[in-house]
Amino acid sequence: MHEVAQIDRETLSVDTLGLHLEEAKHLLEKVQAVLVDEQVRTCLAEQVACPSCGRARAHKDTKTIVTRTLFGTLHLRSPRWRQCPCQPRTTRTFSPLAAGLPERTTPELLYLESKFAGLVSYGLSARWLAETLPIGRPLYASAVRLHAQATGERLESELGPEQSMFADGCQLDWDELPRPDLPLTVGLDGGYVHSSQQRSRRDGWFEVIAGKSMPTDGPAKCFGFVQTYDIKPKRRLFEVLKSQGMQMNQQVTFLTDGGEDVRDLPLYLNPQAEHLIDWFHITMRLTVMSQMAKGLRSRDNPELAAEVLKELARLKWLLWHGNVFRALQTIEDLQIDLDNTEHPSPEQQKLLKVVTEFGGYVRANGAWIPNYGEKYRSGEAISSAFVESTVNQVVSKRMVKKQQMRWAPKSAHLLLQVRAKVLNDELAPAFQRWYPAFDVPAESAVAQELAA
Ligand SMILES: [Zn+2]
Repeated sequence: MHEVAQIDRETLSVDTLGLHLEEAKHLLEKVQAVLVDEQVRTCLAEQVACPSCGRARAHKDTKTIVTRTLFGTLHLRSPRWRQCPCQPRTTRTFSPLAAGLPERTTPELLYLESKFAGLVSYGLSARWLAETLPIGRPLYASAVRLHAQATGERLESELGPEQSMFADGCQLDWDELPRPDLPLTVGLDGGYVHSSQQRSRRDGWFEVIAGKSMPTDGPAKCFGFVQTYDIKPKRRLFEVLKSQGMQMNQQVTFLTDGGEDVRDLPLYLNPQAEHLIDWFHITMRLTVMSQMAKGLRSRDNPELAAEVLKELARLKWLLWHGNVFRALQTIEDLQIDLDNTEHPSPEQQKLLKVVTEFGGYVRANGAWIPNYGEKYRSGEAISSAFVESTVNQVVSKRMVKKQQMRWAPKSAHLLLQVRAKVLNDELAPAFQRWYPAFDVPAESAVAQELAA
């Protein structure tokens, strides 16, 4: 019998009802301490006898092992025993507890630290965990960061080697495969995060690629990597697609914003890959221009705002139908209208600049602007970002919320691996793979809410 706590209450009211958080934390810590005492005692009792002759090994000295758990920081007394002289041994002493506990943080704590850090800042993760659990000694943001990064490293170590080409086999083999399901759609997008290794104004930022892969049915999966750090971008993307059942004869549609770096990636992955500009990125740009046009005031042409809005609507219609040629003509008309006044306002000049940039964008990406309307009507995917951009979902929400957050490419990359696993509900299965006795319920609704 162990008495772990005594709880006193006076009159019943809503604030005296049941356990207080501090009491519950104290209780958990005490209950675990009793359990741990018992586990340590049993472990030592089972191992004290020499496996060869059965005699008890002699005690040499005792060290303290500090192990962090969700329910307190444990200071375990770890005895060192002399090896039994009945047999030749490679070592002179033996510490059974230290041998049994090579890691000094329990997987459950590691898991929660990694999971929270995948969703919110390291500092907030540390505070939340310390507030709700009897963690024991103070939990610092730096410790959460180290642990989350270690989880990222471990996830990375499971990724197979990079290959120049993942499309193995040839057309003949692919024709033999059973007909796959409807196309897989992959959205790829680039974003920038603030660099901590800034030496000049130019290297103040580095690019992060985010992606989302959507099978026709089943959940979407996201992924991310730091372009300049990652040496296995193709393998990474390949594994995501494979886990969603991609076959070599599967049609995969890549939707991007048109950047060169993301445009090349699909080619190596799948012989049936098709690349298109994500409709989301076109419509976002058009929305920005329309907002700007609404605010136009021109002394020379009072109708300017209305005319420009009409032309933008026409431009959208032309692009929706994949008519790049006439879309470019309409952009020229817009440029002329915006340039054709004697006293252009600053807003007007700004819009002219944006329209001109958009013209360059459409010209550079014309080959990958399909007839969206037709594809849409036949049920094909034309956008991977229905509500918000993939890069915002995967990268920005965690990494660029605050401008002052600065990242090293490596730590940004590793955190992205953890974040992707959290968003994909794959972190708990990874821990189960690493620690067979690890047992937590599947990703909680709370995490889903936070991620959304
Ligand atoms: Zn012996």
